[in-house]
Amino acid sequence: MDEEHAFETTAIHGGQEPDPATGAVMPPIYASSTFEQDAPGDDRGYEYARTGNPTRETLEANLAALEGAAYGRAFSSGMGAINTVMNLLEAGDHVVAERDLYGGTHRLFTQVYEGYDLEFTFVDMTDLDAVRSAVRPETELLWLETPTNPLLKVVHIEAIAEVAAEADALYGVDNTFATPYLQRPLDLGADFVCHSLTKYLGGHSDVVGGALLTDDAELDEAFGFHQNAVGATIDPFACFLVLRGTKTLPLRMERHCSNAMVLAEWLDDDPLVDEVYYPGLPDHSGHEVATRQMSGYGGMVSFELDCALETASEIVSSLSVFTLAESLGGVESLIEQPATMTHAAVPAEERRASGLADGLIRASVGVEHIDDLIADLDQAFDQAR
Ligand SMILES: *Cc1c(COP(=O)(O)O)cnc(C)c1O
Repeated sequence: MDEEHAFETTAIHGGQEPDPATGAVMPPIYASSTFEQDAPGDDRGYEYARTGNPTRETLEANLAALEGAAYGRAFSSGMGAINTVMNLLEAGDHVVAERDLYGGTHRLFTQVYEGYDLEFTFVDMTDLDAVRSAVRPETELLWLETPTNPLLKVVHIEAIAEVAAEADALYGVDNTFATPYLQRPLDLGADFVCHSLTKYLGGHSDVVGGALLTDDAELDEAFGFHQNAVGATIDPFACFLVLRGTKTLPLRMERHCSNAMVLAEWLDDDPLVDEVYYPGLPDHSGHEVATRQMSGYGGMVSFELDCALETASEIVSSLSVFTLAESLGGVESLIEQPATMTHAAVPAEERRASGLADGLIRASVGVEHIDDLIADLDQAFDQAR
């Protein structure tokens, strides 16, 4: 299925066959914590649901097919997946990570794993020399997101792969923002891809989940060991919801991308807006690399308002089509203020140093009609004009 069919077909059928027992077209939700053995140790592939569950395996196969990966593991959240990666490291190991990271990832690295004697260097990964000079003999992992959150910087995945290979370090890409529909990091040299399924893959803001995908059997084995040993596993009902979401991923991404492009252009023309961050705009710093490594520019648009933090807060509070909420990637448009919401855990000084202004707004552009989205922002901007 994966190799021979187009993405749209794989999204619907990848990893899924009608249930052999009943012919059910949709994967059954196997809500069983344990499985019968014919004799001690003689099971039918399943023993206990933390170790393995048929609904979860269907999801894992579907996600692997979408990323073009040989193996997939699903977790209870994106953070559960990322934590599993960190479980592979040991005290004294060093990690080089993108500076403009998802706030929760930054928190996990600095507030949990620095306490376990792991060391982290955060750099702007669009600066290859900075990445090279951050690497040390103890560097075991290079970690990035692209486009980044929330500044939508575009990191050259293939270029960083070379640095990771030179350093003999594991190389992971969080592909949550782009999704495999727009970007396939494994084809560009990443050792593994991580996802928050909570975002575009689930797509309907009704489920929390995470995943790790790789072509490396040994790495998958290690992920699987920790999935079972630590237990951050996703439940079968959540798996079912994500499987329902991935079927329409290509359709949704097309609309997310086209709406985001129109909105970014509209914002770019508005005098109240100081700066628009969207890789689809020709003057965006990452436009060229994005054009090469992505097949579309995604649904996330950030922009900086020329006003005080309080005014920016009022603007995002007075929208009616956009919902003021953290998270992203659902069919509905969400808007948020990183300084007071998603990135509040990042110390103010560090936040400003990485370019996150107080007036910065991040929009997850949904699949509503673009005219309604623009009219909504237009009326909210009126109070600051
Ligand atoms: C949301 C998110 C995560 C964390 O995923 P959860 O499902 O919320 O645990 C990690 N990386 C990125 C880029 C995200 O947007």
